[in-house]
Amino acid sequence: MINDEYGIYIHVPFCVKKCGYCDFYSVSDLDKIPIYIQSVVKEIGMAGNVSETADSIYFGGGTPSLLDSSQIRQVLDAAFRKFDVSPLAEITLEVNPGTVSYEKLSGYRQAGVNRLNIGVQSFSDVTLAFLSRIHSADQAIQAIQSSRSAGFDNIGLDLIFGLPGQKKHHWLSDLQAAVDLHPEHLSCYMLTYETGTPLTSDLKKSRFRALPEGAVGMLYDAAVGYLADNGLPQYEVSNFSTSNATRSRHNQKYWTHAPYIGFGPSAHSFTNNRRSWNVRSIDAYLEQLLAGKTPTDGFEELDRHQLMMETIYLRLRCVDGIDISVFEERFDADFNAMFGSAIIASQNDGFLKIMNGRCRLTRRGLLFSDSVAGRFIDHI
Ligand code: SF4
Repeated sequence: MINDEYGIYIHVPFCVKKCGYCDFYSVSDLDKIPIYIQSVVKEIGMAGNVSETADSIYFGGGTPSLLDSSQIRQVLDAAFRKFDVSPLAEITLEVNPGTVSYEKLSGYRQAGVNRLNIGVQSFSDVTLAFLSRIHSADQAIQAIQSSRSAGFDNIGLDLIFGLPGQKKHHWLSDLQAAVDLHPEHLSCYMLTYETGTPLTSDLKKSRFRALPEGAVGMLYDAAVGYLADNGLPQYEVSNFSTSNATRSRHNQKYWTHAPYIGFGPSAHSFTNNRRSWNVRSIDAYLEQLLAGKTPTDGFEELDRHQLMMETIYLRLRCVDGIDISVFEERFDADFNAMFGSAIIASQNDGFLKIMNGRCRLTRRGLLFSDSVAGRFIDHI
């Protein structure tokens, strides 16, 4: 279940402006990018030694596509100097369609990036305006086409669903527009109302009504069926890919407790059952590195109980489910003896099945993955 190869994550905390629904850490002071690059390079150089190979590097954000290709190359060079990066490593960069041109994308490809994750969110300009995205649908299509021309053969797109007033035909037209562009990977995220965002504030002021839960569930189910029929079967609650090879290597590290090391403000790391995280603020991050200190803000050692809970939560979200014998060996536990009643109740509800030594959620069960996982957690 656990792949020992490392993932490297670089958090790029800059955005042109904040989207109304987003609560990720980012700032709009782009003048700090050059000093940020120097600091990330320094932080990578200060990392402890890792003898295992890294098979994935992921630039996430924020908006990593605000960096130019020479800045990406500087960070990659630092990672290659410090770690044993596999020549076959998947090197992904998140792209906001409002920040790229063919030349820029070409530069990324030449710098060694071999996978893009493009934040399209919607192919409707009305929806993009509601989400306060900085780009139009045409710009998103242009970015995808330019990425292909620049030599990218592994492209993921992000879409958001569950918008106020969204009907099934609106959502299917977004999905069809995505499928027509032949991405290797698609992530479909449900719109959530995070505390403190402008969108949540507008919702509280009744400026619009959230889509009812039942309607959101119907849209989700429509996506799972439509994408399976169009060559993008689901492999995790929110993720779909053309094949096993085009699943996101980086995200799979999170779902399998594989080791990863994060750099940049608020980046998290997970190694040897220890999770640590960097200071969140860009200014604190820059100050720490300027003073020659590591920017770690905290850590926790996960005990057997926590690891088991996380394994249940994360693995039940994946269509491959839990490999029962691997689970039993890892935790020295009898899976059926521990979870027998949760299994029976979930099977009776049509949420779960046990097949070929794996405990997996059904399509309906994936819609309620958190509550099914909750039934299991009650027995840990
Ligand atoms: S571009 Fe992405 S990270 Fe930046 S504010 Fe918008 S959703 Fe958040």
